Amino acid sequence: MVSIPKPDPTITGYTVRDLRFPTSLDAIGSDPMNTAGENAHGYIVYDTDVPGLEGIGWSFSNGQGNEVLCAGIKCLAPRFVGRKLSSITSDFATTHRNFLGGQTRFMSPERGVMQLASNAILNALWDMWAKVEGKPLWRLVAEMTPEQLVGVIDFRYITDELTPEQALAFLKEKEKGKAERLALALQNLAVPGYNTSVGWLGLSDAEVEAGLRKAVDAGFKHFKLKVGQGLEVDRKRLGMVRRISPDAVIMTDVNQLWDVDYAIEYMPKLADLGLWFIEEPTSPDDILGHARIRAALKPHGIGVATGEHVNNRVMFKQLLQADALDAVQLDALRLSGINEILAVCLLAAKFGVPVVPHSGGTGMPELCNHISHFDFVAISGKQSILEYTDHCHEYFSDPAEFSNGHFHAPTAPGYSCQITEEAFSKFECPEGSFWQSEKGQLMLNDPWRGCAAEQTSPMK
Ligand SMILES: [Mg+2]
Repeated sequence: MVSIPKPDPTITGYTVRDLRFPTSLDAIGSDPMNTAGENAHGYIVYDTDVPGLEGIGWSFSNGQGNEVLCAGIKCLAPRFVGRKLSSITSDFATTHRNFLGGQTRFMSPERGVMQLASNAILNALWDMWAKVEGKPLWRLVAEMTPEQLVGVIDFRYITDELTPEQALAFLKEKEKGKAERLALALQNLAVPGYNTSVGWLGLSDAEVEAGLRKAVDAGFKHFKLKVGQGLEVDRKRLGMVRRISPDAVIMTDVNQLWDVDYAIEYMPKLADLGLWFIEEPTSPDDILGHARIRAALKPHGIGVATGEHVNNRVMFKQLLQADALDAVQLDALRLSGINEILAVCLLAAKFGVPVVPHSGGTGMPELCNHISHFDFVAISGKQSILEYTDHCHEYFSDPAEFSNGHFHAPTAPGYSCQITEEAFSKFECPEGSFWQSEKGQLMLNDPWRGCAAEQTSPMK
């Protein structure tokens, strides 16, 4: 058989697009802090000199401000135009460090909008790399040697906790059993899911109940509900889960609503319902506050989780060092690409804390599915769970699939980032047909949309 050499594409140009799904109309993503969010994507396509080969990536926002994210992507994207893919990936750790440097670092180093923008670009590069290798991204990572895997990570700022040499030894140890874990992944049994769609804050009791029954039928055994509406309401909604699925693992999420002492006072009053954790009990920046909450709730059997607004590996390192977490909820769009996600997965594995990626927004299950698969096969070696939401999968060219309580392992080459042209024709902002409609214009022109007390446009 004649082997065909893999292409080494040169990046020739790029397109950046602003896409906003009007998810607020269905209360999707609604929580105590975000009453009306439009799941939005800053989307980049890198063109190459290889016919038919593109690198596609995106990062996420909650609607307003997505134009700022797109501006960040446009600012950083030219750095890779004219480069051969191999010149980026051959020493990816150094390329990554250089990419996060320079004048733009002043905007807020490894935080904020520029971090999100860096993520979109890195996702496009990893997507392109996986396509060149002919593998789904999770498998590209899972089948790297320990040396190759360590070679894509910039360890700056975490060597006090994890050096490249320690990471290498750890990964070599995890080679044991890897073939069996890969086999399990290929049978679609590696990544169980938990369901968040049943628990959006804006759903009526009837909608929560109907969603729960459907989810139980689909094989879900883990559910997460938004809380923070007061004890009576919270107990009623959580009690519904206990009644319909008595053995379910129940998680709660309050999306940064509380002060530290209030969280410590409130959560024990729900302890008899049997809860795994409270997510984002307070400001995502309050590392010591999370540690205090966790210590206080431990005797009540309730843990603490956070991560969807944790900007970088340094914050995760400190959260782990402070003994503040029962689950590392890293976000596929918040950190700086697979490179930094790998650093956080390694830190979590070192501390023995499971990675439970934040996956509640449109398209996140598609991406996080890759992360959970490579974490299980190559890094932690332990089964965890991944958040599943059931909205908007139809707009993805390689949608996340789910059955028998588990995510399916992606099979198409790449990082599953591609969104269909049908989605862009409806929801590209502002020219898509929805945003040009009367309702879309009302929503788009309400500068307070999502700020409950000030919002002027109708919720539906
Ligand atoms: Mg959350």
